[in-house]
Amino acid sequence: MLRADVIHKPADLRARANLVDYDRARREFSWQQARDALSGLPGGAGLNIAYEAVDRHAAGPRAGVTALRWLDRTGGVREISYRELGELTGRFANVLTGLGVRPGERVYTLLGRVPDLYVAVLGTLKARCVLSPLFSAFGPEPVAERMHLGEAAVLVTTPALYRRTIAPIRDRLPALRHVLLTGPAATGLPGTANLSDLSGAASPAFTVGPTDPQDAALLHFTSGTTGRPKGALHVHEAVVAHHATARFALDLRTDDVFWCTADPGWVTGTSYGIVAPLVIGATMLSDEGEFDARRWYRVLAEQRVTVWYTAPTAVRMLMRRGPEEAARHDLSALRLVASVGEPLNPEAVRWGAEVLGRPVHDNWWQTETGAIMISNFAAADIRPGSMGRPLPGIDAGLLERGPDGRALVDADGGVHPLAGAAEGELALRAGWPSMFRGYLNDPERYAAAFADGWYLTGDIARRDSDGWYWFVGRADDVIKSAGHLVGPFEVESALMAHPAVAEAGVIGMPDPVAGELVKAFVTLRAGIEPTEELRTELLGFGRRALGAVAPKEIAFDDALPHTRSGKVMRRLLKARELGLAEGDLSTLEVTR
Ligand code: ATP
Ligand code: MG
Repeated sequence: MLRADVIHKPADLRARANLVDYDRARREFSWQQARDALSGLPGGAGLNIAYEAVDRHAAGPRAGVTALRWLDRTGGVREISYRELGELTGRFANVLTGLGVRPGERVYTLLGRVPDLYVAVLGTLKARCVLSPLFSAFGPEPVAERMHLGEAAVLVTTPALYRRTIAPIRDRLPALRHVLLTGPAATGLPGTANLSDLSGAASPAFTVGPTDPQDAALLHFTSGTTGRPKGALHVHEAVVAHHATARFALDLRTDDVFWCTADPGWVTGTSYGIVAPLVIGATMLSDEGEFDARRWYRVLAEQRVTVWYTAPTAVRMLMRRGPEEAARHDLSALRLVASVGEPLNPEAVRWGAEVLGRPVHDNWWQTETGAIMISNFAAADIRPGSMGRPLPGIDAGLLERGPDGRALVDADGGVHPLAGAAEGELALRAGWPSMFRGYLNDPERYAAAFADGWYLTGDIARRDSDGWYWFVGRADDVIKSAGHLVGPFEVESALMAHPAVAEAGVIGMPDPVAGELVKAFVTLRAGIEPTEELRTELLGFGRRALGAVAPKEIAFDDALPHTRSGKVMRRLLKARELGLAEGDLSTLEVTR
């Protein structure tokens, strides 16, 4: 559904933005230039993410600037300057070295949003070990699976998380040599060491050793929305893309107070929740607390947040609370609001403009791409519902799809890029700095993700005649109904435009005549009753908006399945409806 409406930006915002002239920036940009904007290790010793994020500021005029402003659960604030962050991460790197942990070995973190996490992440990169951050709310099984896959040598966690999550699986992790526990009470658990004792005894001075830009740095697991999570490996050179994309897509500058709400257990929370703002030299905000509408508005207002990077699921939760809460807070410092991770409904973009005073800027990327690839920009108008346009340095394309729904790859390896306005599998010309360099232990899957110089994303998108991209769905999710290809997101968006609907999940149900029937599961806003009248009304509402691709069935559902990062899991929804185990779905897809 291409919407004609556009949200225009005021002239003052346009003029101040980092990326004022999109076409010109695309013409003139080169990754070499972006590389030259960073320092590199002294003496030409390579490129290291943590050196760019911390040490070069700690040794320069920004040493006294607040790098991390941390809010604890109870409202306490701790500020850590770039100088102090340099020392803390130096101590951590020395601890690793002192324990005999070698460059290239895997260091995992299992921590909430606490200062120790940021120190461990950056200290690990200084020591040239590979960092893998885990989401602290994971239970023992997902943690065991990820630590086993990555052969974790070191784990940094808290005593409570250790008891709850690690102790039950420790005997399944033979490669794990060191468990470092944070906090003063972190003693007395067998097989662990106290990190603050070790750090206290270590020197704050640490010189980052020679780092090849192609050395492995980060191991991120995908969200597992479509199947088992995959481990995507990234290299130090990724920092070139973190920096350039933070400037272009998030409009970040040194004087910004930047808040990324993603948990550092996900790629967004590391690329943009840690690395990017520090490389820029801005102040990054971290809030230990969990989502709570009132708290979030208060943080935005009191901390004078200027750039806010969040997720559609959070925006939807704020929308559910209504505009009154927002009106109680002074959000005038906000310059840019951006979102990633799932389709951002046009409704949510406009809600931002009305309630936050700034439209929400959608952007698109994946764990595998390491950085934002397609985005709405601060200086550009917004077409609500569009993910925006490819960043300077990124060549996006749409490839013709074959019968299995994925890009058609000929026997000789050739693909079929589509020209102009089109719909196909979204692909990116391989070779940008933050492109993943492997799926852990799965070289075949990695090889299969590329064809004829393109990385195939597995997402289906549409491009309008002006070159803006619109998300259609995941190749696996797209519904084929009575000869139509239906993107679930489009249907969900149309339903969410109804005032009674808070969230929707749409799937195809097998049907002997149509192939698949579009079925919607709808969560209503607080206080709204699920009546037959409402169901009929929603069916009509959908029909008027969508015509032939409207849902034929609507069910009310207060428990849509979500990933831990908040995405609607259509795959699970479908399995649940069909009474199948999740794994059986692939058979279904092959046979449909
Ligand atoms: P898995 O690969 O394990 O199934 P996942 O794809 O959800 O999980 P991530 O790498 O965290 O794991 O998510 C990237 C995906 O999220 C994209 O491929 C896309 O499907 C979706 N996504 C990200 N941003 C957007 C966006 N702005 N609009 C629509 N979808 C988005
Ligand atoms: Mg994926």
